[in-house]
Amino acid sequence: MTQPNRDLYQAGAALCDYVATNLTKALEHVQRELSTLDGYGGGSDPGMKVTASSELTSVERTADARWAMTDAREQLRDLKAQVLVSIRELNEYINEVQRMRVPKVVVKPEDKKRDLCCSNQAGKEGVLEWGDPLCMMPGVKGGMCQAHYFRWYRHRADKGIDVTKDHMPA
Ligand SMILES: [Zn+2]
Repeated sequence: MTQPNRDLYQAGAALCDYVATNLTKALEHVQRELSTLDGYGGGSDPGMKVTASSELTSVERTADARWAMTDAREQLRDLKAQVLVSIRELNEYINEVQRMRVPKVVVKPEDKKRDLCCSNQAGKEGVLEWGDPLCMMPGVKGGMCQAHYFRWYRHRADKGIDVTKDHMPA
């Protein structure tokens, strides 16, 4: 059985157990704090009169508090968005990596196509039965890979075709 990644599993459990709930609580907390500031001159109250320096200080303090609370709310939302983006990107990359394949045989740039097994199967007896037009193995026997040479040989031997003249140099 495939074991889930331990760190991710625990992080997911933490998200479900308390992070998701606490984020809601924190946002509600910010909202409550902001609403207690309403009507205390957050800069949006045109009817407010400022008549004394002590009141001005209070207004400034209120504005600071409002700014800090608003900023905190934005930071909470940004951090949550980052987590979601990270999870999505991780998931996408996991899927991408699972589709990656290494070639069975790395064909070096200097290898010419004519040296490949698939290029030397064409026209041979019964190739539709034993051949593979996508075989990228290097040709080692009769221009083909060991497996396809053998299948070609077997095919002809089964049909009673003379195979004694095959032995050309690799
Ligand atoms: Zn082959």
